Amino acid sequence: MRQRGFRCRSVFRSDHTLGALLAVLLVAALAGCSAVTAPPHHQVEILVRASPVWPATARTEQLATAQKRFAECGIALTFVAAPSLSPLRELSFIESLEAVDGRAIEGRALTLVRPQRADIAWSTPAGTPLDHKQTAAHELGHLFGLGHAPVHSINLMAPHGCKFCRFSPGQCEILSANAPTGP
Ligand SMILES: [Zn+2]
Repeated sequence: MRQRGFRCRSVFRSDHTLGALLAVLLVAALAGCSAVTAPPHHQVEILVRASPVWPATARTEQLATAQKRFAECGIALTFVAAPSLSPLRELSFIESLEAVDGRAIEGRALTLVRPQRADIAWSTPAGTPLDHKQTAAHELGHLFGLGHAPVHSINLMAPHGCKFCRFSPGQCEILSANAPTGP
């Protein structure tokens, strides 16, 4: 978790003596700064499209967990139906994806198209609902530069996902490097 720290931590950089540190702490206290978790400073807008086949509750859960996982890395995701600017990334809740090698596909990330797009399937082509494991967070992870973790690892970026995993600190670094920095 690289974003945790003092809200006003930048003032510490050039101070090395205890006296100076205390002075800085006093100034920080007077300025209303506190030792709280820094708010996310990467702001990212994601365009969301949704097929009516997706139940609203399932969609909301996917979006909420993705927001939570990215917020843990200091990145604030905003999901919009109509982007304010030309969108860089899009998340689509779709009906199904073609099976690959006889195996059902839950999601995919298309990183070479513009806007980049992540698709999440509700069911197999035969209509069997899929078991989503933070699929939106996983696929958005790909759009922000992450590859797959080893096949059987307990990791959000394992090929089959993970229901309760967070991004690792190293993965957070990569996500942050690929997210714009806000004010
Ligand atoms: Zn993947």
